[in-house]
Amino acid sequence: MCGIVGYIGSKKPNNILIEGLKTLEYRGYDSSGIALQNKEKTQIIKSVGKIKNLEEKIKEENLINANIGIAHTRWATHGKPNESNAHPHKVGKITIVHNGIIENASVLRNILESQKIKLNSETDTEVVAALINYYYQDNIIEAINQTINKITGSYALGIMVEGDENLYAIRKDSPLVIGIGDKEHFIASDIAAIIDHTNKYILLEENEIATISQDNCKIQKDGKEIKKQILETDISAESRDKCGYEYYMMKEIMEQPVLLENTLKPLIKDLTQLPDLTKYEEIHIVACGSAIYAGMIGKTLLEDYANIKVTCEVASEYRYKKVFYSEKTLVILISQSGETADTIAAMRKAKYNGVDTLAIVNVKSSTIARESKKQIYIEAGPEIAVATTKAYLLQVAILALLSYKATKDKNGASIDLAKEIEMLPRLVKEIIDRRESYLEIAKSIYNNNDIFFIGRKIDYAISLEGSLKLKEISYIHSEAYQAGELKHGTISLIEKGTPVIAIVTDKIVREKTISNIEEVKSRGAKIIAITNSNLPSYDFNISVPKISDFFQPILIIPCLQLIAYEVAKLRGCDIDKPKNLAKSVTVE
Ligand code: GLU
Repeated sequence: MCGIVGYIGSKKPNNILIEGLKTLEYRGYDSSGIALQNKEKTQIIKSVGKIKNLEEKIKEENLINANIGIAHTRWATHGKPNESNAHPHKVGKITIVHNGIIENASVLRNILESQKIKLNSETDTEVVAALINYYYQDNIIEAINQTINKITGSYALGIMVEGDENLYAIRKDSPLVIGIGDKEHFIASDIAAIIDHTNKYILLEENEIATISQDNCKIQKDGKEIKKQILETDISAESRDKCGYEYYMMKEIMEQPVLLENTLKPLIKDLTQLPDLTKYEEIHIVACGSAIYAGMIGKTLLEDYANIKVTCEVASEYRYKKVFYSEKTLVILISQSGETADTIAAMRKAKYNGVDTLAIVNVKSSTIARESKKQIYIEAGPEIAVATTKAYLLQVAILALLSYKATKDKNGASIDLAKEIEMLPRLVKEIIDRRESYLEIAKSIYNNNDIFFIGRKIDYAISLEGSLKLKEISYIHSEAYQAGELKHGTISLIEKGTPVIAIVTDKIVREKTISNIEEVKSRGAKIIAITNSNLPSYDFNISVPKISDFFQPILIIPCLQLIAYEVAKLRGCDIDKPKNLAKSVTVE
């Protein structure tokens, strides 16, 4: 969530910081700020709303001559999104920016206030600044160590100390990297913020403290200096740009055919690269948001074809509930960023219980990628739009391939998936290219207040994501239902013209879903049917080619993404940055 950028070097920090923040804008935030520092002074400028408001404010200020600076976009967890709660926060000599949540902030706040230390904001962050300042005599590392012994929760911190020429950084359960330039250094919560300046970086591990100067970066933990490997990122500035599309979401939808080809082709050539799931008696798929819906597609395929029992659990529940493990349990964690706080906790719970973990992730340097026993990378490249499209599709594709391999290993699946993978990118491209039909559907439904999705079995799992995509970017209330469940209550909400998007691909339940469509149709619903078979003619019918059950969802998903996109566009929504949402949910 939110973003941190920091700079130390001989250039003026403000432009580097602002441009860096802009590349993190897509993550969602409500306010922003920067702090500049030289030997004598610290200057802080903050603003509510978009970064351009901050830029305007900066223009009006007389900026100090600084060679060190930190900047932040805030996604409020403690206290309203207003200027005094925006970061950076300065207490005494200490100025900090913080991503994450300090869970015991209110207890610590009481202790500080009982010591007559006055805080000016409602944030947990200012409590951290106050603690560091409280412990700081002449050794900042000591003060940081004492502070982290007192705080619980998650943090990535950029720290400046008045009168000290270094920049400091530390993290726990929230990402932070240090970029290494030529006589300059950067800190960033996401490498994308600094790739215009350098592709070399150091990954800061839990509670390692970085002391960063123009020429040097020293990392220590528990008083010992640590030698770190310098890594290189292959993310390019171009892959971060919109390439002429109006929104990143559209660019990312368009990338899907090529990405499917790049990700699946090398894997299908040699399936032994993928883990053997047949040795497990039970699989827990744990994730959040769209990733759990991808998991539900995987569950249906693994159960129906590979005969492996699978449970799907939302990570925020899984981490606190009673879970039954055996030696033959595998836990699959799915996360685009690999930094989803609840999914990290679920992974650690599984590891603590001694069971195998497999991560399906996009970001290779992420916590989940590093800490899980096995990893499969979806290779989606940077996903900028908050609402996931390509990462979700590739998660589904990987799960389909895993299910196919497990089925083959168990029963010797007879179909030749290599041929299908050869065709898949073209089919997806053709489906994406039918932009006019999605727009036509969107025009007919974008003024509705409620939209329902129905389907059975795998079609229900696909519907869940279709509904989420629509509501998150268009703000229309939408729900997905198992088609047979609607008449147990929700059908009372169907009135004349209520759009119902029905997905009908699973042949076993096809006739049943058709009956459910009739039930809502006879109560006035406007039917949009998406199918791979011949269906009666409804208000709108979208047909996709029939392919293997493993990959059939891959042809339905782009239709739903594009309906959501066109609806959101007609409603004038800020498609890439839906309100209240953040890209990677690094807080609980
Ligand atoms: N918990 C902090 C706040 O509410 C930081 C939130 C963030 O990660 O942006 O200010």
